[in-house]
Amino acid sequence: MTDVMEHPQGTDQPEAACAAVAARLVDALGADMVLTGTDVARYCRDWHGDVETGAVAVLRPRSTQDVAQAVKAVAALGLSLVPQGGNTGLVLGATPDDPAGQVVLSLERMTAIRRLDADDFSAVVEAGAVLSEFKDKVAEAGLFFPLALGAQGSCRIGGNVSTNAGGINVLRYGMTRELVLGLEVVLPDGSIFDGLSALRKDNRGIDLKQLFIGAEGTLGVVTAVAVKLLPQPDQVATALLGFNALEDAIRLYRRARRDCCDLMSAFEFMPPLAFTLAQEAIPDLPMPMAADYPAYVLMEISGSRLVDVDDLMSRFLEGVMADGLVVDGVVAASQAQARTLWLFREGMNEGQAKRGRHLRTDVSVPLSRVPDFVREAEAAIHAALPDCTCVSYGHVGDGNVHLNVLPPAGLTRQEADARIYQAKTVLNAVLDGFGGSISAEHGIGRLKKPDFEARLQPVKRQLLTSIKAAIDPQGIMNPGCQLNLSGVSG
Ligand SMILES: Cc1cc2nc3c(=O)[nH]c(=O)nc-3n(C[C@H](O)[C@H](O)[C@H](O)COP(=O)(O)OP(=O)(O)OC[C@H]3O[C@@H](n4cnc5c(N)ncnc54)[C@H](O)[C@@H]3O)c2cc1C
Repeated sequence: MTDVMEHPQGTDQPEAACAAVAARLVDALGADMVLTGTDVARYCRDWHGDVETGAVAVLRPRSTQDVAQAVKAVAALGLSLVPQGGNTGLVLGATPDDPAGQVVLSLERMTAIRRLDADDFSAVVEAGAVLSEFKDKVAEAGLFFPLALGAQGSCRIGGNVSTNAGGINVLRYGMTRELVLGLEVVLPDGSIFDGLSALRKDNRGIDLKQLFIGAEGTLGVVTAVAVKLLPQPDQVATALLGFNALEDAIRLYRRARRDCCDLMSAFEFMPPLAFTLAQEAIPDLPMPMAADYPAYVLMEISGSRLVDVDDLMSRFLEGVMADGLVVDGVVAASQAQARTLWLFREGMNEGQAKRGRHLRTDVSVPLSRVPDFVREAEAAIHAALPDCTCVSYGHVGDGNVHLNVLPPAGLTRQEADARIYQAKTVLNAVLDGFGGSISAEHGIGRLKKPDFEARLQPVKRQLLTSIKAAIDPQGIMNPGCQLNLSGVSG
Protein backbone atom coordinates (compact mmCIF):
# COMPACT_ATOMS: atom_id res chain seq x y z
CA MET A 1 0.00 0.00 0.00
CA THR A 2 1.10 3.56 -0.63
CA ASP A 3 -0.41 4.94 2.47
CA VAL A 4 -3.00 4.41 5.16
CA MET A 5 -6.49 5.82 4.75
CA GLU A 6 -9.96 5.16 5.94
CA HIS A 7 -11.98 3.59 3.19
CA PRO A 8 -15.31 1.77 3.24
CA GLN A 9 -14.65 -1.97 3.21
CA GLY A 10 -17.65 -3.55 1.47
CA THR A 11 -21.16 -2.18 1.53
CA ASP A 12 -23.09 -1.92 4.76
CA GLN A 13 -25.99 -0.13 3.02
CA PRO A 14 -29.23 -2.07 2.60
CA GLU A 15 -28.65 -4.28 -0.43
CA ALA A 16 -32.28 -4.05 -1.48
CA ALA A 17 -32.08 -0.27 -1.91
CA CYS A 18 -28.95 -0.63 -4.06
CA ALA A 19 -30.58 -3.36 -6.13
CA ALA A 20 -33.62 -1.16 -6.75
CA VAL A 21 -31.46 1.71 -8.00
CA ALA A 22 -29.41 -0.70 -10.12
CA ALA A 23 -32.64 -1.99 -11.64
CA ARG A 24 -33.55 1.57 -12.65
CA LEU A 25 -30.18 1.87 -14.39
CA VAL A 26 -30.91 -1.35 -16.28
CA ASP A 27 -34.30 0.10 -17.31
CA ALA A 28 -32.66 3.30 -18.52
CA LEU A 29 -29.60 1.84 -20.25
CA GLY A 30 -30.41 -1.79 -21.06
CA ALA A 31 -29.01 -5.00 -19.55
CA ASP A 32 -26.08 -5.13 -22.00
CA MET A 33 -24.52 -2.01 -20.48
CA VAL A 34 -25.15 -2.60 -16.77
CA LEU A 35 -23.46 -5.11 -14.45
CA THR A 36 -25.02 -5.60 -11.03
CA GLY A 37 -24.79 -7.91 -8.01
CA THR A 38 -21.66 -10.04 -7.62
CA ASP A 39 -20.31 -8.98 -11.05
CA VAL A 40 -19.54 -5.58 -9.56
CA ALA A 41 -16.90 -6.75 -7.05
CA ARG A 42 -13.93 -7.08 -9.39
CA TYR A 43 -14.22 -3.41 -10.39
CA CYS A 44 -14.26 -2.31 -6.77
CA ARG A 45 -10.88 -3.40 -5.47
CA ASP A 46 -7.64 -1.56 -6.03
CA TRP A 47 -4.66 -2.97 -7.95
CA HIS A 48 -2.88 -4.32 -4.86
CA GLY A 49 -6.05 -5.63 -3.20
CA ASP A 50 -5.47 -3.33 -0.20
CA VAL A 51 -8.97 -1.84 -0.54
CA GLU A 52 -12.20 -3.65 -1.40
CA THR A 53 -15.38 -1.66 -1.61
CA GLY A 54 -18.61 -1.69 -3.63
CA ALA A 55 -20.75 0.23 -6.12
CA VAL A 56 -24.40 0.39 -7.12
CA ALA A 57 -23.52 -0.99 -10.55
CA VAL A 58 -20.84 -1.04 -13.25
CA LEU A 59 -21.64 0.52 -16.62
CA ARG A 60 -19.78 -0.78 -19.67
CA PRO A 61 -20.60 1.45 -22.67
CA ARG A 62 -19.66 0.47 -26.22
CA SER A 63 -19.66 3.97 -27.75
CA THR A 64 -19.37 7.67 -26.96
CA GLN A 65 -23.15 7.97 -27.33
CA ASP A 66 -23.54 5.18 -24.74
CA VAL A 67 -21.29 7.12 -22.35
CA ALA A 68 -23.38 10.28 -22.84
CA GLN A 69 -26.56 8.32 -22.10
CA ALA A 70 -24.94 6.69 -19.06
CA VAL A 71 -23.83 10.03 -17.60
CA LYS A 72 -27.35 11.46 -17.99
CA ALA A 73 -28.96 8.38 -16.40
CA VAL A 74 -26.57 8.47 -13.44
CA ALA A 75 -27.22 12.18 -12.87
CA ALA A 76 -30.98 11.71 -13.13
CA LEU A 77 -30.87 9.12 -10.35
CA GLY A 78 -28.82 11.41 -8.08
CA LEU A 79 -25.82 9.06 -8.26
CA SER A 80 -22.22 9.84 -9.13
CA LEU A 81 -19.73 8.26 -11.49
CA VAL A 82 -16.26 6.79 -11.04
CA PRO A 83 -14.59 6.33 -14.46
CA GLN A 84 -12.29 3.33 -14.71
CA GLY A 85 -9.70 2.26 -17.26
CA GLY A 86 -7.39 -0.63 -16.40
CA ASN A 87 -7.69 0.04 -12.65
CA THR A 88 -3.89 0.02 -12.31
CA GLY A 89 -3.75 3.45 -10.69
CA LEU A 90 -2.01 3.27 -7.34
CA VAL A 91 -3.85 6.08 -5.52
CA LEU A 92 -7.46 4.78 -5.40
CA GLY A 93 -8.70 7.21 -8.08
CA ALA A 94 -10.77 4.51 -9.81
CA THR A 95 -11.92 2.79 -6.61
CA PRO A 96 -15.36 3.99 -5.42
CA ASP A 97 -15.74 5.17 -1.83
CA ASP A 98 -19.54 5.39 -1.60
CA PRO A 99 -20.94 1.92 -2.41
CA ALA A 100 -24.57 3.10 -2.25
CA GLY A 101 -24.11 6.31 -4.21
CA GLN A 102 -21.49 5.61 -6.88
CA VAL A 103 -21.49 3.79 -10.19
CA VAL A 104 -18.28 2.62 -11.88
CA LEU A 105 -18.08 3.45 -15.59
CA SER A 106 -15.60 1.08 -17.21
CA LEU A 107 -14.18 1.96 -20.64
CA GLU A 108 -13.09 -1.65 -21.26
CA ARG A 109 -15.44 -2.15 -24.25
CA MET A 110 -14.30 0.98 -26.10
CA THR A 111 -11.00 -0.22 -27.57
CA ALA A 112 -11.08 0.67 -31.27
CA ILE A 113 -8.34 2.49 -33.14
CA ARG A 114 -10.50 4.91 -35.09
CA ARG A 115 -7.69 6.18 -37.32
CA LEU A 116 -3.98 5.44 -37.75
CA ASP A 117 -2.30 7.85 -40.14
CA ALA A 118 1.31 6.88 -40.88
CA ASP A 119 1.87 9.93 -43.09
CA ASP A 120 0.65 12.28 -40.38
CA PHE A 121 2.41 10.37 -37.54
CA SER A 122 -0.82 10.37 -35.55
CA ALA A 123 -3.67 8.12 -34.43
CA VAL A 124 -7.10 8.40 -32.83
CA VAL A 125 -7.75 5.65 -30.31
CA GLU A 126 -10.66 4.97 -27.97
CA ALA A 127 -10.08 5.44 -24.27
CA GLY A 128 -10.46 1.76 -23.36
CA ALA A 129 -7.61 0.49 -25.55
CA VAL A 130 -4.98 -1.33 -23.47
CA LEU A 131 -1.71 0.58 -23.81
CA SER A 132 0.48 -2.39 -24.87
CA GLU A 133 -2.10 -3.56 -27.43
CA PHE A 134 -2.26 -0.08 -28.94
CA LYS A 135 1.54 0.11 -29.04
CA ASP A 136 1.69 -3.28 -30.82
CA LYS A 137 -0.79 -2.15 -33.47
CA VAL A 138 1.15 1.07 -33.98
CA ALA A 139 4.41 -0.92 -34.31
CA GLU A 140 2.84 -3.10 -37.02
CA ALA A 141 2.54 0.13 -39.02
CA GLY A 142 6.27 0.85 -38.42
CA LEU A 143 5.50 3.57 -35.91
CA PHE A 144 6.06 4.06 -32.20
CA PHE A 145 3.96 5.31 -29.29
CA PRO A 146 6.57 6.01 -26.63
CA LEU A 147 4.55 5.84 -23.39
CA ALA A 148 6.06 2.87 -21.49
CA LEU A 149 5.23 1.74 -17.97
CA GLY A 150 5.19 -1.42 -15.91
CA ALA A 151 1.39 -1.61 -16.03
CA GLN A 152 1.16 -1.27 -19.82
CA GLY A 153 -0.37 -4.73 -20.29
CA SER A 154 -3.40 -3.63 -18.24
CA CYS A 155 -3.69 0.17 -18.13
CA ARG A 156 -5.82 1.88 -20.77
CA ILE A 157 -5.22 5.03 -22.81
CA GLY A 158 -8.04 6.98 -21.14
CA GLY A 159 -6.51 6.17 -17.74
CA ASN A 160 -3.06 7.23 -18.98
CA VAL A 161 -4.49 10.57 -20.12
CA SER A 162 -6.52 11.05 -16.94
CA THR A 163 -3.43 10.47 -14.77
CA ASN A 164 -0.99 12.17 -17.18
CA ALA A 165 1.09 9.00 -16.87
CA GLY A 166 4.87 9.10 -17.07
CA GLY A 167 7.04 5.98 -17.20
CA ILE A 168 10.52 5.14 -18.38
CA ASN A 169 10.68 7.22 -21.57
CA VAL A 170 9.64 10.59 -20.15
CA LEU A 171 13.13 12.07 -20.26
CA ARG A 172 13.09 11.86 -24.05
CA TYR A 173 9.41 12.01 -25.06
CA GLY A 174 7.69 13.75 -22.14
CA MET A 175 4.66 12.79 -20.05
CA THR A 176 1.37 11.70 -21.63
CA ARG A 177 0.32 15.36 -21.89
CA GLU A 178 3.07 15.91 -24.45
CA LEU A 179 1.83 13.01 -26.57
CA VAL A 180 -1.82 14.09 -26.71
CA LEU A 181 -2.98 16.09 -29.74
CA GLY A 182 -6.70 16.06 -29.03
CA LEU A 183 -9.46 14.61 -26.85
CA GLU A 184 -13.10 13.63 -27.03
CA VAL A 185 -14.77 13.97 -23.63
CA VAL A 186 -18.30 13.35 -22.39
CA LEU A 187 -19.09 16.15 -19.96
CA PRO A 188 -21.13 15.78 -16.76
CA ASP A 189 -24.31 17.08 -18.49
CA GLY A 190 -23.98 14.41 -21.19
CA SER A 191 -22.76 16.79 -23.90
CA ILE A 192 -19.77 15.77 -25.99
CA PHE A 193 -16.65 17.94 -26.23
CA ASP A 194 -15.22 17.06 -29.64
CA GLY A 195 -11.60 18.16 -29.49
CA LEU A 196 -10.14 15.27 -31.49
CA SER A 197 -8.17 17.41 -33.91
CA ALA A 198 -4.71 16.05 -34.71
CA LEU A 199 -3.32 19.51 -35.50
CA ARG A 200 0.11 20.00 -33.97
CA LYS A 201 -0.15 23.75 -33.94
CA ASP A 202 -3.43 25.30 -32.86
CA ASN A 203 -3.38 28.50 -30.84
CA ARG A 204 -7.06 29.32 -31.06
CA GLY A 205 -7.40 30.50 -27.49
CA ILE A 206 -7.24 28.40 -24.32
CA ASP A 207 -6.29 24.77 -24.95
CA LEU A 208 -9.27 23.14 -23.22
CA LYS A 209 -8.05 19.55 -23.57
CA GLN A 210 -5.36 20.31 -21.00
CA LEU A 211 -8.06 20.59 -18.32
CA PHE A 212 -8.94 16.92 -18.68
CA ILE A 213 -5.36 15.59 -18.78
CA GLY A 214 -4.48 14.60 -15.22
CA ALA A 215 -8.00 15.41 -13.97
CA GLU A 216 -8.45 11.80 -12.79
CA GLY A 217 -12.03 11.66 -14.03
CA THR A 218 -13.22 14.64 -11.98
CA LEU A 219 -14.35 16.76 -14.95
CA GLY A 220 -15.65 14.31 -17.56
CA VAL A 221 -15.19 10.92 -19.21
CA VAL A 222 -12.42 10.79 -21.82
CA THR A 223 -13.80 8.64 -24.64
CA ALA A 224 -11.14 8.99 -27.37
CA VAL A 225 -7.67 10.45 -27.75
CA ALA A 226 -5.69 11.77 -30.72
CA VAL A 227 -2.01 11.02 -30.12
CA LYS A 228 1.35 11.79 -31.67
CA LEU A 229 3.30 8.87 -33.10
CA LEU A 230 7.01 8.67 -33.86
CA PRO A 231 9.21 6.59 -36.13
CA GLN A 232 9.84 3.15 -34.60
CA PRO A 233 13.43 3.05 -33.24
CA ASP A 234 15.10 0.01 -34.83
CA GLN A 235 18.21 0.10 -32.68
CA VAL A 236 18.31 0.03 -28.90
CA ALA A 237 21.44 -0.18 -26.74
CA THR A 238 20.94 -1.09 -23.08
CA ALA A 239 23.55 -0.96 -20.31
CA LEU A 240 23.51 -1.67 -16.58
CA LEU A 241 26.11 0.47 -14.81
CA GLY A 242 27.53 0.44 -11.26
CA PHE A 243 28.54 3.60 -9.36
CA ASN A 244 30.38 4.46 -6.16
CA ALA A 245 27.69 7.00 -5.28
CA LEU A 246 24.32 8.27 -6.50
CA GLU A 247 25.97 11.66 -7.15
CA ASP A 248 28.09 9.97 -9.85
CA ALA A 249 24.96 8.59 -11.47
CA ILE A 250 23.48 12.09 -11.69
CA ARG A 251 26.77 13.40 -13.14
CA LEU A 252 26.63 10.65 -15.73
CA TYR A 253 23.07 11.61 -16.59
CA ARG A 254 24.08 15.20 -17.31
CA ARG A 255 26.97 14.03 -19.43
CA ALA A 256 24.82 11.55 -21.35
CA ARG A 257 22.30 14.29 -22.14
CA ARG A 258 25.11 16.28 -23.72
CA ASP A 259 27.08 13.47 -25.38
CA CYS A 260 24.37 11.17 -26.70
CA CYS A 261 22.67 13.54 -29.15
CA ASP A 262 19.42 13.48 -27.14
CA LEU A 263 19.01 9.79 -28.01
CA MET A 264 18.92 8.61 -24.39
CA SER A 265 15.47 7.08 -23.84
CA ALA A 266 15.72 5.68 -20.28
CA PHE A 267 17.82 6.27 -17.19
CA GLU A 268 16.55 4.26 -14.22
CA PHE A 269 18.27 4.33 -10.85
CA MET A 270 18.26 1.21 -8.62
CA PRO A 271 19.87 0.38 -5.25
CA PRO A 272 21.84 -2.88 -4.70
CA LEU A 273 18.79 -4.34 -2.91
CA ALA A 274 17.05 -4.32 -6.31
CA PHE A 275 18.86 -7.54 -7.25
CA THR A 276 17.72 -9.37 -4.11
CA LEU A 277 14.13 -8.15 -4.49
CA ALA A 278 13.99 -9.05 -8.18
CA GLN A 279 15.35 -12.54 -7.46
CA GLU A 280 12.77 -13.02 -4.70
CA ALA A 281 10.11 -12.41 -7.38
CA ILE A 282 11.86 -14.18 -10.30
CA PRO A 283 14.01 -16.91 -8.69
CA ASP A 284 16.12 -17.98 -11.70
CA LEU A 285 17.10 -14.49 -12.78
CA PRO A 286 20.87 -14.62 -13.45
CA MET A 287 22.99 -11.92 -11.76
CA PRO A 288 24.33 -9.62 -14.49
CA MET A 289 27.17 -8.12 -12.38
CA ALA A 290 28.41 -7.75 -8.81
CA ALA A 291 25.71 -6.46 -6.47
CA ASP A 292 27.87 -4.50 -4.07
CA TYR A 293 28.02 -1.02 -5.58
CA PRO A 294 26.05 1.67 -3.76
CA ALA A 295 24.10 2.69 -6.89
CA TYR A 296 23.11 1.25 -10.27
CA VAL A 297 21.62 2.75 -13.41
CA LEU A 298 19.84 1.05 -16.26
CA MET A 299 20.46 3.24 -19.28
CA GLU A 300 19.02 2.97 -22.75
CA ILE A 301 19.89 4.79 -25.99
CA SER A 302 17.67 4.28 -29.01
CA GLY A 303 17.62 5.48 -32.59
CA SER A 304 16.78 4.49 -36.09
CA ARG A 305 18.22 4.00 -39.54
CA LEU A 306 21.39 6.03 -40.05
CA VAL A 307 22.41 6.40 -36.40
CA ASP A 308 24.77 3.73 -35.02
CA VAL A 309 23.44 3.44 -31.50
CA ASP A 310 25.78 0.60 -30.38
CA ASP A 311 28.80 2.63 -31.43
CA LEU A 312 27.47 5.68 -29.61
CA MET A 313 26.93 3.68 -26.42
CA SER A 314 30.37 2.07 -26.49
CA ARG A 315 32.20 5.34 -27.19
CA PHE A 316 30.23 7.07 -24.45
CA LEU A 317 30.97 4.33 -21.90
CA GLU A 318 34.67 4.19 -22.82
CA GLY A 319 34.97 7.89 -21.97
CA VAL A 320 33.07 7.80 -18.68
CA MET A 321 34.83 4.64 -17.48
CA ALA A 322 38.22 6.15 -18.30
CA ASP A 323 37.19 9.14 -16.16
CA GLY A 324 36.20 6.84 -13.28
CA LEU A 325 32.58 8.02 -13.27
CA VAL A 326 31.26 4.51 -13.87
CA VAL A 327 33.07 1.71 -12.01
CA ASP A 328 31.49 -1.34 -13.61
CA GLY A 329 29.02 -2.06 -16.36
CA VAL A 330 27.45 -4.58 -18.67
CA VAL A 331 26.08 -3.80 -22.11
CA ALA A 332 23.37 -6.14 -23.44
CA ALA A 333 24.62 -8.07 -26.47
CA SER A 334 21.15 -9.09 -27.61
CA GLN A 335 17.50 -8.19 -27.15
CA ALA A 336 17.15 -11.18 -24.81
CA GLN A 337 19.96 -9.87 -22.60
CA ALA A 338 18.42 -6.40 -22.60
CA ARG A 339 15.13 -7.95 -21.52
CA THR A 340 16.90 -9.72 -18.63
CA LEU A 341 18.41 -6.44 -17.46
CA TRP A 342 14.97 -4.82 -17.49
CA LEU A 343 13.59 -7.76 -15.48
CA PHE A 344 15.66 -6.56 -12.52
CA ARG A 345 13.99 -3.15 -12.69
CA GLU A 346 10.51 -4.63 -13.10
CA GLY A 347 11.02 -7.59 -10.72
CA MET A 348 12.11 -5.38 -7.85
CA ASN A 349 8.54 -4.00 -7.67
CA GLU A 350 7.10 -7.48 -7.42
CA GLY A 351 9.72 -8.40 -4.82
CA GLN A 352 8.60 -5.50 -2.65
CA ALA A 353 4.96 -6.54 -3.00
CA LYS A 354 5.93 -10.05 -1.86
CA ARG A 355 7.36 -8.62 1.35
CA GLY A 356 3.89 -7.39 2.33
CA ARG A 357 2.31 -4.05 3.12
CA HIS A 358 4.73 -1.20 2.67
CA LEU A 359 4.92 2.53 1.95
CA ARG A 360 5.07 3.25 -1.77
CA THR A 361 5.83 6.79 -2.78
CA ASP A 362 6.14 8.60 -6.07
CA VAL A 363 7.83 11.92 -5.36
CA SER A 364 9.96 14.36 -7.32
CA VAL A 365 12.63 16.93 -6.49
CA PRO A 366 14.88 19.03 -8.74
CA LEU A 367 17.30 16.67 -10.49
CA SER A 368 20.40 18.21 -8.95
CA ARG A 369 18.98 17.62 -5.47
CA VAL A 370 18.09 13.93 -5.88
CA PRO A 371 21.19 12.56 -4.06
CA ASP A 372 20.78 14.95 -1.10
CA PHE A 373 17.07 14.21 -0.89
CA VAL A 374 17.55 10.43 -0.91
CA ARG A 375 20.30 10.64 1.71
CA GLU A 376 18.35 12.97 4.02
CA ALA A 377 15.03 11.16 3.67
CA GLU A 378 16.55 7.71 4.23
CA ALA A 379 18.50 9.00 7.28
CA ALA A 380 15.34 10.54 8.78
CA ILE A 381 13.36 7.34 8.23
CA HIS A 382 16.11 5.15 9.70
CA ALA A 383 16.27 7.41 12.75
CA ALA A 384 12.49 7.26 13.28
CA LEU A 385 11.96 3.62 12.26
CA PRO A 386 15.21 1.66 12.68
CA ASP A 387 13.58 -1.71 11.93
CA CYS A 388 12.29 -0.63 8.47
CA THR A 389 14.14 -0.90 5.14
CA CYS A 390 14.28 1.96 2.61
CA VAL A 391 14.28 1.18 -1.11
CA SER A 392 14.95 4.23 -3.31
CA TYR A 393 14.78 3.90 -7.07
CA GLY A 394 13.05 5.38 -10.07
CA HIS A 395 13.06 7.49 -13.19
CA VAL A 396 15.88 9.54 -11.77
CA GLY A 397 16.51 11.41 -15.01
CA ASP A 398 13.19 13.18 -14.32
CA GLY A 399 14.02 13.81 -10.63
CA ASN A 400 11.35 11.16 -9.87
CA VAL A 401 12.14 8.89 -6.93
CA HIS A 402 10.13 6.03 -5.50
CA LEU A 403 11.36 6.06 -1.92
CA ASN A 404 9.58 3.03 -0.51
CA VAL A 405 9.71 1.81 3.07
CA LEU A 406 9.35 -1.88 3.95
CA PRO A 407 8.37 -2.75 7.54
CA PRO A 408 10.03 -5.88 8.96
CA ALA A 409 8.38 -9.29 8.51
CA GLY A 410 6.07 -10.66 11.19
CA LEU A 411 4.14 -7.50 12.10
CA THR A 412 0.37 -7.36 12.48
CA ARG A 413 -1.49 -5.28 9.89
CA GLN A 414 -2.01 -2.51 12.45
CA GLU A 415 1.69 -2.47 13.39
CA ALA A 416 2.74 -2.34 9.73
CA ASP A 417 0.22 0.43 8.96
CA ALA A 418 1.44 2.51 11.92
CA ARG A 419 5.01 2.34 10.59
CA ILE A 420 3.84 3.15 7.06
CA TYR A 421 1.97 6.20 8.30
CA GLN A 422 4.93 7.41 10.34
CA ALA A 423 7.37 6.83 7.47
CA LYS A 424 5.14 8.83 5.14
CA THR A 425 4.95 11.74 7.59
CA VAL A 426 8.73 11.80 8.05
CA LEU A 427 9.36 11.54 4.31
CA ASN A 428 6.89 14.28 3.37
CA ALA A 429 8.48 16.65 5.89
CA VAL A 430 11.89 16.14 4.23
CA LEU A 431 10.28 16.46 0.77
CA ASP A 432 8.65 19.79 1.71
CA GLY A 433 12.09 21.11 2.65
CA PHE A 434 13.31 20.28 -0.87
CA GLY A 435 10.32 21.98 -2.54
CA GLY A 436 9.31 18.60 -4.00
CA SER A 437 6.03 17.11 -5.25
CA ILE A 438 4.15 14.37 -3.34
CA SER A 439 2.97 13.01 -6.68
CA ALA A 440 5.41 12.94 -9.59
CA GLU A 441 3.34 10.55 -11.71
CA HIS A 442 0.53 8.64 -10.04
CA GLY A 443 -1.86 11.51 -9.30
CA ILE A 444 -3.80 12.28 -6.13
CA GLY A 445 -6.79 9.92 -6.23
CA ARG A 446 -8.34 9.33 -2.83
CA LEU A 447 -5.15 8.17 -1.18
CA LYS A 448 -3.07 11.33 -1.41
CA LYS A 449 -5.95 13.76 -0.98
CA PRO A 450 -5.18 14.78 2.65
CA ASP A 451 -1.50 15.38 1.85
CA PHE A 452 -2.43 17.28 -1.33
CA GLU A 453 -5.01 19.46 0.42
CA ALA A 454 -2.64 20.22 3.28
CA ARG A 455 -0.16 21.70 0.78
CA LEU A 456 -2.61 23.51 -1.51
CA GLN A 457 -2.19 27.27 -1.99
CA PRO A 458 -5.49 29.14 -1.38
CA VAL A 459 -5.43 30.68 -4.88
CA LYS A 460 -4.89 27.28 -6.52
CA ARG A 461 -7.73 25.81 -4.44
CA GLN A 462 -10.01 28.65 -5.54
CA LEU A 463 -9.13 28.11 -9.21
CA LEU A 464 -9.70 24.35 -8.96
CA THR A 465 -13.02 24.89 -7.18
CA SER A 466 -14.16 27.35 -9.85
CA ILE A 467 -13.24 25.02 -12.71
CA LYS A 468 -15.03 22.09 -11.06
CA ALA A 469 -18.14 24.21 -10.35
CA ALA A 470 -18.23 25.46 -13.96
CA ILE A 471 -17.93 22.03 -15.58
CA ASP A 472 -19.54 19.75 -13.00
CA PRO A 473 -21.94 21.87 -10.91
CA GLN A 474 -23.80 18.79 -9.61
CA GLY A 475 -20.54 17.15 -8.53
CA ILE A 476 -21.29 13.84 -10.23
CA MET A 477 -17.79 13.16 -11.61
CA ASN A 478 -15.61 11.11 -9.28
CA PRO A 479 -16.45 12.91 -6.03
CA GLY A 480 -13.96 12.11 -3.29
CA CYS A 481 -11.08 12.04 -5.78
CA GLN A 482 -8.35 14.73 -5.69
CA LEU A 483 -10.18 17.35 -3.59
CA ASN A 484 -13.14 17.89 -1.33
CA LEU A 485 -14.43 20.91 -3.17
CA SER A 486 -16.46 23.33 -1.17
CA GLY A 487 -18.97 25.26 -3.23
CA VAL A 488 -19.75 22.25 -5.44
CA SER A 489 -22.78 20.30 -4.42
CA GLY A 490 -22.78 16.58 -4.89
C1 LIG B 1 3.18 -2.19 -11.90
C2 LIG B 1 2.78 -0.75 -12.10
C3 LIG B 1 3.69 0.14 -12.65
C4 LIG B 1 3.32 1.47 -12.85
N1 LIG B 1 4.24 2.32 -13.38
C5 LIG B 1 3.89 3.60 -13.61
C6 LIG B 1 4.83 4.51 -14.18
O1 LIG B 1 5.98 4.17 -14.45
N2 LIG B 1 4.41 5.77 -14.42
C7 LIG B 1 3.13 6.20 -14.13
O2 LIG B 1 2.81 7.36 -14.39
N3 LIG B 1 2.24 5.36 -13.56
C8 LIG B 1 2.58 4.09 -13.29
N4 LIG B 1 1.69 3.25 -12.72
C9 LIG B 1 0.34 3.75 -12.35
C10 LIG B 1 -0.75 3.47 -13.44
O3 LIG B 1 -0.42 2.42 -14.25
C11 LIG B 1 -0.98 4.70 -14.29
O4 LIG B 1 -1.46 5.72 -13.46
C12 LIG B 1 -1.97 4.50 -15.44
O5 LIG B 1 -1.92 5.65 -16.27
C13 LIG B 1 -3.41 4.27 -14.99
O6 LIG B 1 -4.18 3.84 -16.10
P1 LIG B 1 -5.50 2.97 -15.87
O7 LIG B 1 -6.16 2.76 -17.19
O8 LIG B 1 -5.20 1.74 -15.10
O9 LIG B 1 -6.38 3.98 -15.01
P2 LIG B 1 -7.31 3.66 -13.75
O10 LIG B 1 -6.52 3.15 -12.61
O11 LIG B 1 -8.47 2.86 -14.17
O12 LIG B 1 -7.80 5.15 -13.41
C14 LIG B 1 -6.90 6.13 -12.96
C15 LIG B 1 -7.66 7.46 -12.78
O13 LIG B 1 -8.11 7.95 -14.04
C16 LIG B 1 -9.55 8.00 -14.09
N5 LIG B 1 -9.94 7.51 -15.41
C17 LIG B 1 -9.61 6.31 -15.97
N6 LIG B 1 -10.09 6.26 -17.24
C18 LIG B 1 -10.73 7.44 -17.46
C19 LIG B 1 -11.43 7.98 -18.57
N7 LIG B 1 -11.56 7.32 -19.72
N8 LIG B 1 -11.96 9.23 -18.45
C20 LIG B 1 -11.83 9.94 -17.31
N9 LIG B 1 -11.18 9.46 -16.22
C21 LIG B 1 -10.63 8.23 -16.31
C22 LIG B 1 -10.03 7.16 -12.94
O14 LIG B 1 -11.27 7.60 -12.45
C23 LIG B 1 -8.91 7.34 -11.93
O15 LIG B 1 -9.09 8.54 -11.21
C24 LIG B 1 2.02 1.92 -12.49
C25 LIG B 1 1.11 1.00 -11.95
C26 LIG B 1 1.48 -0.31 -11.73
C27 LIG B 1 0.46 -1.24 -11.15
